Amino acid sequence: LRILGIETSCDETAAAVVERDAEGHSKVLSDVVLSQLDEHSAYGGVVPEIAARAHVEALDELIEEALQRANVSLNEVDAIAATSGPGLIGGLLVGLMTGKAIARAAGKPLYAVNHLEGHALTARLTDGLSFPYLMLLVSGGHTQLILVRGVGDYQRWGTTIDDALGEAFDKTAKLLGLPYPGGPAVERMARDGNADRFAFPRPLVGEARLDFSFSGLKTAVRQAAQDIAPLSDQDVADICASFQKAVSRTLKDRIGRGLQRFKTEFAATFPAAAPATGEKPALVVAGGVAANLELRGTLQTLCDKNGFRFIAPPLHLCTDNAVMIAWAGLERMATGAAPDPLDVQPRSRWPLDSNAETLIGFGK
Ligand code: ATP
Ligand code: MG
Ligand code: FE
Repeated sequence: LRILGIETSCDETAAAVVERDAEGHSKVLSDVVLSQLDEHSAYGGVVPEIAARAHVEALDELIEEALQRANVSLNEVDAIAATSGPGLIGGLLVGLMTGKAIARAAGKPLYAVNHLEGHALTARLTDGLSFPYLMLLVSGGHTQLILVRGVGDYQRWGTTIDDALGEAFDKTAKLLGLPYPGGPAVERMARDGNADRFAFPRPLVGEARLDFSFSGLKTAVRQAAQDIAPLSDQDVADICASFQKAVSRTLKDRIGRGLQRFKTEFAATFPAAAPATGEKPALVVAGGVAANLELRGTLQTLCDKNGFRFIAPPLHLCTDNAVMIAWAGLERMATGAAPDPLDVQPRSRWPLDSNAETLIGFGK
């Protein structure tokens, strides 16, 4: 099976070709990503209209390039997979319509892929992971803890009730006068800061539900910054370090509970008595925030303590890309699932877990 993937849900335009041979060996034949970072950075965030136009300008050539690098023609791919949600509707329209047009012209089946499913299944491509496992998605638009039980079989255990974690990093950076995107800037400043100078809140810590909340943290940062303004470089560093520590402690509590719940639910699949020989359960991270070394360290330690494998795919496959979309399409095709009809519509909101909307309103 060989699939062409297309991703346009946010601020990356991407195309890729992924292949799985008869023996089940998978291979990324090409992986092309064009980030629109420069176009949006002046605005301190992604501007939907600019993003949609940029996708229109770049996508055709990018697909051409992905096919060329893979050294295959359109006739030699078996299906087209395009992200059809969730995300910015303008970008989704560009990618899905292009996917439809190619599918129709070349007479290939089309798979309309959920972007979150792409993130969720990536670890099976990179690490050959088997089901079930837990996935933490932490990006600019999403903060979710998802139980991955099978292809098309997901359960959302937790989500943010306000800001996404990447968004919290970006907003914190902005109010400290640091450049966009905020994550890398905050992490860099935090290295020279005193993490104990400010006692920022640790939202929902101690609560049984597995959700997240980060807007109070951002408000506390704003308050602290106002209280001691004008800020010296050391003040900014101390705020960043204290912020990161609060995030780290919050994740430790929230994800720690998630690991416990997983162990309880899958005690039969992963018996505690045989960890030396048996396979360990796994926690996978995805999303741009997974680049953060302190947070990675926290999750690694947490996994070690709980007998989990901690799996962090290479960063370019953690952030938005088309390899994961092609791969999700391939996984669906391999289960024998029917392709989508060519009148399938993009969905700006599309929870992976169909129960999710009723569980918590319109969570992200
Ligand atoms: P989506 O949410 O649709 O997947 P996105 O473009 O918002 O798309 P990503 O590209 O996966 O998400 O990640 C971008 C986010 O990751 C930004 O919010 C950025 O600040 C954050 N980020 C990047 N590097 C770091 C870091 N070192 N520490 C913390 N956050 C980081
Ligand atoms: Mg992005
Ligand atoms: Fe994403």
